Amino acid sequence: MDFFSEIIGETVILGLDSLILGFCVKQLSKCKHILNALQTAPVLEIDSSINKELKKFPNSTIPYVVIRGLVKPLGTPITSNYNNSITGVVQRLTIKEHVIARTSAGFWSDQTRTIHEVCNSTPFVLNNGKYSIEVVDALAAELLDMDVISDKFEPMSPGVIDHVWGFFSGVRQRGLQTMEEMLRDGSYITAIGELSKSKTGALKIQPPRDGLPLYLTTATKSSLLKRLASSRDFLRILVVIFGAVAVAASCRVAYKYVKRRKRRALDDSVKQRLAAGRRERRAVAREKNLSEVQLCVVCTENPKEIILLPCGHVCVCEDCSDNITDNCPICRKRIESRAPAFIT
Ligand SMILES: [Zn+2]
Ligand SMILES: [Zn+2]
Repeated sequence: MDFFSEIIGETVILGLDSLILGFCVKQLSKCKHILNALQTAPVLEIDSSINKELKKFPNSTIPYVVIRGLVKPLGTPITSNYNNSITGVVQRLTIKEHVIARTSAGFWSDQTRTIHEVCNSTPFVLNNGKYSIEVVDALAAELLDMDVISDKFEPMSPGVIDHVWGFFSGVRQRGLQTMEEMLRDGSYITAIGELSKSKTGALKIQPPRDGLPLYLTTATKSSLLKRLASSRDFLRILVVIFGAVAVAASCRVAYKYVKRRKRRALDDSVKQRLAAGRRERRAVAREKNLSEVQLCVVCTENPKEIILLPCGHVCVCEDCSDNITDNCPICRKRIESRAPAFIT
């Protein structure tokens, strides 16, 4: 059995584990990066002081900033599809299919699939009295807290055919969930992103350039920091677990390799002992007082015992033949095979 087939299990585990470990390490470093940026991000009020703060930074841009204010649409707000009295600036309509599906293990479990999602948004600002900051690209926000305006579930009443079909296909329909969420105008939210001032003097907050996320949330900076810290801790635990698996799998591969080398060394020494034994037995059985023509051309001690093929030269004893692997010592032709020669 070659070495690779001996360690195939460990290789598969190591491969999968490295993929997961790599992903966790990446997420962890991203999480730490956001956490550091958020910890140092200034919390600014939307008032006259904001212009003073902006002047302290190059290009009148603060890379990461926390601002709280009231949502106010710049044009006509979006009206809810389900309640005419509710208006907002971002709307998300989702249709989800609820099914009971048979898993690969043979159990039936509840599953939800999003079959349709529409997002609408209209330009809006965060407002405080006469001061306001425009929120750019709100849909790109990594965290966008919205109010659930409507959440309806329409169950399906399956017939006999549906039951039979469900049994064979492994998927049974349970119903459709239609949901509408909105960022309502007048709601008080925290925006975390890059704050900049255009040449016309208008302020805007948008997704930062260096991979940091834009947050539009009802949470405060401190509760967001807590959330990020707990996900960082969770990721750390995952990294430790998958790291330990990687170390264990690598150690096992190393152990198997060392064991295999030891086994080989043992096999070789057994072979060598057997060959030495054979040589001794041959020496005892050999004829003595041979003429020079009958002697091996290499050691000139033992009789010629081996025929080299394809050249056909009978020129060496069995001991010397063991040490000659490539060419015939007489004609230098390549040795392809050899056989015992019986000279009578
Ligand atoms: Zn010899
Ligand atoms: Zn030869």
